[in-house]
Amino acid sequence: MQEPHKYKAYSLSNFRSLPQMAALPEEIKFDIEVVGRVLPFKANNFVVDQLIDWERAPDDPMFVLTFPQRDMLLPHHYEEMAALLKRGADSEEIKAAATRIRLQLNPHPAGQTSHNIPTLEGEYLDGMQHKYRETVLFFPSQGQTCHAYCSFCFRWPQFVGQTELKFASREVDRLIAYLEANPQVTDVLFTGGDPLIMSTRHLAQYIDPLLDAKLPNLRHIRIGTKALSYWPYRFLRDDDADDMLALFRRVGERGRHLAFMAHFNHPRELAPQAVREAIARIRETGAVIRTQSPLLRHINDDPTLWADMWNRQVDLGCIPYYMFVARNTGAQHYFGVPLVRAWEIFREAYQRVSGLCRTVRGPSMSANPGKVQILGTSEAMGEKVLQLRFIQGRNPDWVHRPFFAKYDERATWLNELKPAFGEKQFFYENELEQFYRENIEAVHDEDYE
Ligand SMILES: *Cc1c(COP(=O)(O)O)cnc(C)c1O
Ligand code: SF4
Repeated sequence: MQEPHKYKAYSLSNFRSLPQMAALPEEIKFDIEVVGRVLPFKANNFVVDQLIDWERAPDDPMFVLTFPQRDMLLPHHYEEMAALLKRGADSEEIKAAATRIRLQLNPHPAGQTSHNIPTLEGEYLDGMQHKYRETVLFFPSQGQTCHAYCSFCFRWPQFVGQTELKFASREVDRLIAYLEANPQVTDVLFTGGDPLIMSTRHLAQYIDPLLDAKLPNLRHIRIGTKALSYWPYRFLRDDDADDMLALFRRVGERGRHLAFMAHFNHPRELAPQAVREAIARIRETGAVIRTQSPLLRHINDDPTLWADMWNRQVDLGCIPYYMFVARNTGAQHYFGVPLVRAWEIFREAYQRVSGLCRTVRGPSMSANPGKVQILGTSEAMGEKVLQLRFIQGRNPDWVHRPFFAKYDERATWLNELKPAFGEKQFFYENELEQFYRENIEAVHDEDYE
């Protein structure tokens, strides 16, 4: 057997060589080839050997999370691509079809391309987003891929080689200049892709200058990552694992908090010994691990599973942070859970765990106006309603004001909800429209809610 900590990548070109694939029917493998042309697909030996339960494949949730599934494409998209592969179309034709289909899948939800890119002295700062007052997102150019791809991922345009859709910046100097000009920002969130795909040397080239710059308002450096779940050897056996942990420790020694935002989708991801050891080593550096997860049909739409996941996280010293609603992009028709059902799952899971797990907030939609939490259903003024509130808002003044939508059992996203009590619009909509008007480029993607 190969050594488990030696990285081996699987993609469309070699997944059939996996011994575990032999037992699966040919249709399943063909589906992977069809759907994998449109939605990005990449796995590694840790995910394949230690996270997927092959006895339960193809229904196993970790299998579904890793390998593209037929129903992730709409039937007409699937048929179009399947027909091309069956008649042996050339790669140019296949690529053109893939691009056409992708553009129909709302590749930039929540106005990511244009609304949130900050400016400094009139220049657009690509590779950054600034939406909520306290926190700037930073997309280091070398961190725009992942150890394996989650099949639901809304970052998928970044992985499929459409470079003009990428967010990237290697310019930490501009980040520092922006932070100097914007003292309201306390948090820098490194995100991607996965910033921990980078070598420690590269990551340090971003983080050390931030620590060295005299930024009295910078308090928290966050790293959003899936590496803990998909490649825990990043913190154990990789050549520069110890250097990475030393970098984490440096952040704390320089008086800043390192917030490790770990992404988990299923309690099984917390079981491998390597993951547990990695968690222990990260915590020893003084970093705090917070966890976040999207709610996904076919993967984790079950309250027992969430209660189990939060409990295991707290057992290991991690802090449950967010439950997200699946975004309106890519294969949302496959993964989406209606908002009412999402709230029921959240509530049933929350009821089963002690207060130590109840640091988690959700279910939350990262929509254009902000992070909107579904607080529940109730009756008011003779009408059945959904109660909502902003956890984060483009305007901080919107945060934590309860507001109401007409009850709708089928809605899966904010743009499908209508205001309750016969009102014409939600309380924030005038201001939001004004914001769009002031951001010229927003005209191009008005449909993004
Ligand atoms: C979620 C999010 C943040 C961070 O929000 P917190 O509630 O502080 O964790 C920052 N920027 C964007 C665009 C986000 O979606
Ligand atoms: S790790 Fe995150 S960014 Fe990477 S594929 Fe999964 S959800 Fe997307």
